Parts: sequence; structure tokens; C-alpha cells
Amino acid sequence: MSVRVRFAPSPTGHLHIGGARTALYNWLFARREQGVFILRIEDTDTERSTQEYTQSILDGMSWLGLTWDEGPFHQMERMPIYREHVDRLLAEGKAYRCTCSPERLEEVRKAALAAGRKPTYDRKCRNEERLPAGSAAGRTKNEERNFCIRFAAPLTGTTVVHDMIRGEIAVDNKELDDLIILRSDGTPTYNFTVVVDDVTMQISHVIRGDDHLNNTPRQILLYQALGYPAPIFAHLPMILGADKQRLSKRHGATSVIAYRDAGYLPGALLNYLARLGWSHGDQEIFTMDEMTRLFRLEDVGKAPAVFDPEKLKWVNSEHLKKYTDDQLVDLARPFFEKQGLAIVDRGYTARALHSERERGKTLDELAAITAFYLRDAVTFDEAAVTKWLTAEKKGLLKEIAERLGQVSDLSDLTLKPILEELQKQHNLKLVDIAQPIRVALTGTTVSPGIFEVMAILGKERVLTRLARALQ
Ligand code: GLU
Repeated sequence: MSVRVRFAPSPTGHLHIGGARTALYNWLFARREQGVFILRIEDTDTERSTQEYTQSILDGMSWLGLTWDEGPFHQMERMPIYREHVDRLLAEGKAYRCTCSPERLEEVRKAALAAGRKPTYDRKCRNEERLPAGSAAGRTKNEERNFCIRFAAPLTGTTVVHDMIRGEIAVDNKELDDLIILRSDGTPTYNFTVVVDDVTMQISHVIRGDDHLNNTPRQILLYQALGYPAPIFAHLPMILGADKQRLSKRHGATSVIAYRDAGYLPGALLNYLARLGWSHGDQEIFTMDEMTRLFRLEDVGKAPAVFDPEKLKWVNSEHLKKYTDDQLVDLARPFFEKQGLAIVDRGYTARALHSERERGKTLDELAAITAFYLRDAVTFDEAAVTKWLTAEKKGLLKEIAERLGQVSDLSDLTLKPILEELQKQHNLKLVDIAQPIRVALTGTTVSPGIFEVMAILGKERVLTRLARALQ
């Protein structure tokens, strides 16, 4: 069977962690099976769907590198196809017009609940003499649209979902309602469009979040009514927050774009997402190539996965290690720019990043702690200045500046003897000499080793900064 899968987001929000994982699993599966990955925008909820969200989802997918082979298709552009299918079901007596008013439906619902039954539609219009079927698509603008179209679901039997991850799930057809497939405003509903699309796009495997699991039996009935074979289903386990509740904004950033802006690498985010539900032995760090080679739907677990931002950060730092200092310059550039800093000297910036790369776990963090190298004027931390740039320490710094002015370069070889001598002469501990220099050069009390910082800054910058701190 040729593999054709799809990712079908609704543009009612940004691409979020859960959606991105669904997209990734579809993408990996398609790549591994040399199949086709389709992007379909499910935008029939016109009240909540926006152009901005559609664009943001496409941007998120592109940033992640989850390229699609077909699409993006937009459901709103496929209305004639859905109507055609509605008409077919009507003509075959497998769907019917329902003229029940919202008030009546509400009464039926309340009565059912009061009697302890499921609040399903009582099938009044199905049981009454059928209205002339007519055409759902062919209605003119002037024709009253005070009816919807319902699917005449089978009244007996069971529907079995064979799910690659969840196994077999059987549902008594009595439990399933005559669901609305076309609303009174002429728009088709989710369960119907998804089936028509998956059929007409020849989808072989439906891989999606298990929040859709209870829709699947209804969809299978629609496949049967339309005379099409159902695809293979694989429902992915939920993603939870640390409190074991479904992951939501309450748990912090959930949109993919927010992680891009916080300095995460797309490869790291994908690596982390892949592990939310899938495993390959104990391995945690994967390249895209490895994941493509190793990913199997059979290895996706049933248990919900817990989203752990700290682990994501660790995965990101592991991925950052794969880049050279020179590559880091380009990766960090937008994050320097965000702080108003331009990269003037590439080699210098690479050396600066090298000194901080162990500490910065995201590009944003890395740029923030490296920024002092690139700033013309040091931004001083008040507390650090009060503690370490006292009148007495300034005297010391002046002496240091004079001595440094006499050497040709600032390597370990030249710096060490100078500082050691001063240390002895004034009977100081190393920290008493290193901290004032550090504050003068970086503005704070935390930085890489002071010799390293001085060597990278170079003589000119060091002397300028010392002079400024003395003012
Ligand atoms: N549009 C649906 C959603 O965003 C997905 C439907 C599906 O994958 O079948 O949840």
C-alpha cells in the first residue's frame, strides 16, 4: 500500500506542542515509508479560524522543517466536493433533512437528560414521512435554510475501530447519534469533511491525537455509508503538564513559535517532541536522519506523556553542542539583534560565544550572557559596582591598567605574572583582584574565567573599559 498521511490543523490558534508532535509523527512515518505527507487546513469553523493563524501554522511548520508534499489544501475551498457527497447520501436515503427547531432540540435534550438517557437527537425527522430529498448543494439563495442534513446512522450493530496504538475499540451503534453533516447555513461539519477529505485525498493512515478517538466510530460509519474503505487509524497519547492535566497555556509556552523566539533549535524541539510518546531504547538525542530511519508507529506508547520544559532545555543544549563557534554566530545573530547589538567582527563574536557556550542552554540565553562582549558601553549591575568598584579597588584597577598598557597582548602568559605580582604586593586573594576587573569589564560578577575574558576582549577594549570604570 502506498503511504499517504496528512496533518490537518484547524487555524483557530497557533501551531502548538501537541499539533507539532502530530505533524512530526505523520512526517516521520511518511519519510520512512517513502510516502506522501499532506497539509490540510481545516478552516470550516469560520468564526474561530483566521488568516493569521493559518499563516502562523505554515510558518511554524516551515521553521520546524516539516515540509509537505501536497497542499496546503483549505477546506473552505472544497465546498462543492462536500456538497456532492451530501447529495449522494441524500439520494441514497442515507441522510435526511431535519427541520427541528433549536428550541425543540433543546427540549428533547433536557427530556433525555431528565430520564437519565444520553442527550441524543430523537430522530423525529428521520421517522416522519421524508421530505422530498432535493439537493443540498443546489439550494438557491432564496430558498429557506431552516433545515440541516443529518446522517441516518445504523440503528443496530457495533462499529469496531482497529487502532495501531490503542488496539480494538468496539462501540455499540445505539450509542451513536444521527449527526449533523450539513448545518442549516450550508456548511459541512468536522466529522463529515474529514471523511470526505481523507477519502478523496486517498489517505492510507490517519495519525492524530486521541482526543479524536471518540469521533472515529462515527467516521467509520460515514466511510461505510459512502462505500469507501476506512484508513488505518493510529491515535496518539495525550500530552500532559507536570500537574497531569492536559497541556495548556497554564503550563507556560505551548506555541511552537514561542520556542523559536526563545532560542530553541528546530531540530531540538523535534527531537524532544518525538520522545513524547515514542522511544528507541534509552536514546534521548536524535538527529532528524536518525529519527527518520528509526521511527515506527509500533513503538509509540499508549500512556500519556508529560511535557517537561527543563528536559526540553537540556535537549536543546545537547543539540547546540553540534554546532561550531562560527555556526553559532549565525544562529545567535537574531538574538543579539533583539538586544540591539549588531555583529561587526565575526571572529571576535565566535570567540566570545565560545567562552559562554557551556552556560547558554538556548540561543536567547547564550546571546544574553555573551552580549557584554559586543556592547560598546558596559551595563553595570548596581550591587556589583557598590561591592567591587570601591575607591580602594579603583586604585588597584588603575595600577592594573598601567601595567597592562605596557604589554603587547593579553594572553595568559602576559596576564598571569602581572596579576600574581599585584596580588602579592597588596597581599590580596585572587578573588579580590579578579572581581573588580570582572565588574569593570563585564558589568557583573559572573563571567567566564577572567584571563579568558581579557584575552578575548583584547588590550584595546580592556583598557577602554577599565578607564570607563575608573570614571
Ligand atoms: N482539525 C482537527 C484538529 O485540529 C484534526 C482532525 C483530524 O486529524 O482528523 O484537531
